[in-house]
Amino acid sequence: MSKRKIVLFGGTFDPIHLGHTAVAADAAEQIGAEKIVWVPAKRSPLKGFMPKAGDDDRLKMMGLAIGGQKNFELSDYELRRPAPSYTLETVRWFQTKYGGDVLIHWLLGADSVEDLSLWHEINALIDECTLCTMYRAGCKKPDFTAFEAVWGHQRVNKLQQNIIRTPLIDISSTEVRKRLAAGADVGKMLHPAVIEYIRRRGLYRSEEESGYV
Ligand code: ATP
Repeated sequence: MSKRKIVLFGGTFDPIHLGHTAVAADAAEQIGAEKIVWVPAKRSPLKGFMPKAGDDDRLKMMGLAIGGQKNFELSDYELRRPAPSYTLETVRWFQTKYGGDVLIHWLLGADSVEDLSLWHEINALIDECTLCTMYRAGCKKPDFTAFEAVWGHQRVNKLQQNIIRTPLIDISSTEVRKRLAAGADVGKMLHPAVIEYIRRRGLYRSEEESGYV
């Protein structure tokens, strides 16, 4: 019997945008996963700066953007742990939770290809879950062949086989934050309930301000 598949989608989601929801849904369908668990991070070990919006605001915006969509689930697992979050620890925790008949898939955008070799215990991560790399607008087509000398043929082969041709949606949280700080329109980038939440809470009014607590 083939194993059940569950997708984990981690990131800062500062804020969650329509690119996130569109590509994740498309990837999960291509993978044949039964659900996507969204895992907001406290802080990216590689980004080196704090999210602009606090944990609670980011979690609430995610709830508004993905709530009501069947097969989408929100987890505060990484937010409850001390920063920074390491993906391998998260994957292991969910693997224990779901048990051995579930194959954990972890979604990455193509912009992560370049820094993947810097991730904590990357060899173990490649081995212990299925890292699925999605296409991303403005990024090169994902390709790991240059990393064969570092990770070996088998690992690179596994990464290559799990590249997913997702739709190119040219949205980033950075661009959203810039537009919000400039008072520009973000109507095509965010879920309407997220826009309303940001307005009500006065988030992202300036590019420097950090609401992080
Ligand atoms: P920022 O601009 O602040 O770096 P971001 O838009 O890249 O944010 P993250 O929360 O860092 O959003 O992204 C979480 C994950 O989603 C990452 O793996 C990222 O590569 C991926 N991702 C984000 N936006 C897209 C998109 N438009 N298409 C494909 N993947 C995306």
